[in-house]
Amino acid sequence: MYKWNFPNTTPILKLKKELKRFCYVVDIDEWETSKTCHKCFERITLYRNKKLCKEKARMSQYHSVIRCSSNECKLCCMDRDINASKNILLLLQCEKQGKRRPKCFREQKE
Ligand SMILES: [Zn+2]
Repeated sequence: MYKWNFPNTTPILKLKKELKRFCYVVDIDEWETSKTCHKCFERITLYRNKKLCKEKARMSQYHSVIRCSSNECKLCCMDRDINASKNILLLLQCEKQGKRRPKCFREQKE
């Protein structure tokens, strides 16, 4: 079984209540969705690039920009939140179709 760990803080509950006035709201466990590539399910890393700083080349990170750690995957330079959103959409589709979550989104305690 999954460890369902939904935040139940007051702002989240208020947001859910407000959204329920307009649409059907589904809770999806976000476990590993921000650490996994939505294309190949490998781990993602923060995107780093060489940058000249005071005439020295340094590796710098771009805030919230990720790339896939797999060399075969074409995912490069994507916003971390967009990637996580695509994973959450996939998990919603799995739930609606009665399928299990892909293994990379399950805790390994099974
Ligand atoms: Zn990938």
